[in-house]
Amino acid sequence: MPYVHDTLTRLKHSSPAQAEFYQAADEVLESLRPLMEADRRYHDHSIIERLVEPERQILFRVCWVDDQGRVQVNKGYRVQFNSALGPYKGGLRFHPSVTSGVIKFLGFEQIFKNALTGLPIGAGKGGANFDPKGKSDGEIMRFCQAFMTELYRHIGPATDVPAGDIGVGGREIGYMFGQYKKLTGRYEGILTGKDPLWGGSLGRTEATGYGVVYFAENMLQGRGDTLAGKRCLVSGSGNVAIYTIEKLYQKEAIPVTCSDSSGTLYHENGICLKTLKELKEQQRARLDKYLETYPEAQFIPVKDYPEDGHAVWRFPAQAAFPCATQNELTEADAETLLANGVICISEGANMPSTADAIDRFIDAGIAYGPGKAANAGGVATSQFEMAQNASMQPWSLDKVDRRLQSVMQNIYQRCADTAEEFGQPHNLVLGGNIAGFRRVGDTMIQQGVV
Ligand code: NDP
Repeated sequence: MPYVHDTLTRLKHSSPAQAEFYQAADEVLESLRPLMEADRRYHDHSIIERLVEPERQILFRVCWVDDQGRVQVNKGYRVQFNSALGPYKGGLRFHPSVTSGVIKFLGFEQIFKNALTGLPIGAGKGGANFDPKGKSDGEIMRFCQAFMTELYRHIGPATDVPAGDIGVGGREIGYMFGQYKKLTGRYEGILTGKDPLWGGSLGRTEATGYGVVYFAENMLQGRGDTLAGKRCLVSGSGNVAIYTIEKLYQKEAIPVTCSDSSGTLYHENGICLKTLKELKEQQRARLDKYLETYPEAQFIPVKDYPEDGHAVWRFPAQAAFPCATQNELTEADAETLLANGVICISEGANMPSTADAIDRFIDAGIAYGPGKAANAGGVATSQFEMAQNASMQPWSLDKVDRRLQSVMQNIYQRCADTAEEFGQPHNLVLGGNIAGFRRVGDTMIQQGVV
């Protein structure tokens, strides 16, 4: 069936220079083959052609004034990808590497992720090529205000509800919300990831990382195993990585690494969570500062990484949790992980493993949870925040956590059952893509050509 090749050729022609987007589309299209062969309806309704084209893409200029009084200009994006299942939902990323192709890959992944949650949320993603590193609090505030001064006209509690992602945490959400309120005079749930003090959900900060560990636990349970006692490699040291590490300790596992854009930290006794939180959440410091408290730990700067991959995946362990960014785990990294005895991988980041690395994991038959399934706890809890905002009823932390656990279990089950149905048990990439696609595709057929 030539549709994968044809679709990618068309995409490369109509949307040039979007390598990450082609990578994400290729993975999904390949795994949909058995479904497309079994069910003609998706061809007849041109579902693939409609899915790979965002419903709307908003590109805008963001001008702001830095502390030296100079005018700075950035590119802002919001891609409203698919609204079949509900209001557009997905985070905002502030990072210098942000381009149209990065936002489109993230928005595309979001379609299947949100569908897998079973919740009424469509898919979108946005951000800016703004680098928050080294910026003062005043500069961050002015940038966020300038960003929202354009974005506010495109979002709303029933149309599009952005959240955080790389470079966008509670502080940035607060500044953007404040500007939205000032511009519109309305106090409404147009962003998630707010502080629980003023409309946020308890447990949202922790949700993605906790969900990643719940997903790993579900995969291992399916194989009669648990996380207890397992040495774990974690990459990143931001929101997702920190709460992955926290939940791993609660499950009696031993997280021994984390990383940032300057290098990798290895602590044989286990990463000290308290010190990591102080460094990253309060001081916004580089990771090598950890050695001031724990001189016995090891820091590997990026310049000393292996040529074909990343230092973080080269330590012996039984489980791995990529929680930094896309393509941070190469084929050579995958081979080392497998040779070192890793039997479980649960992805906190979006598309952290390259296509060749994923093939290695699937061929090896280990428990591999792709990001669009394993990290969906964040967006699910964002939907809980929307529900609390709409009803003006806050939920207890216990209720949020119980719902999160149940969503993660259901996602795992949907992926595993669908993989089984298509004769590839344990292939959760195939299971997740087909299960997510079917929910969106069937909905689009019912809603007509719009
Ligand atoms: P944060 O900004 O809080 O943390 C990102 C971490 O990854 C930092 O340690 C950062 O290091 C590191 N990092 C980012 N880019 C690079 C890079 N190019 N090279 C090396 N290290 C890098 O972001 P989050 O924790 O929120 O997001 C991490 C991943 O999880 C992303 O892929 C995101 O899309 C995904 N995700 C996040 C969700 C959420 O709820 N926040 C939900 C679902 C997925 P440094 O600070 O030095 O740049």
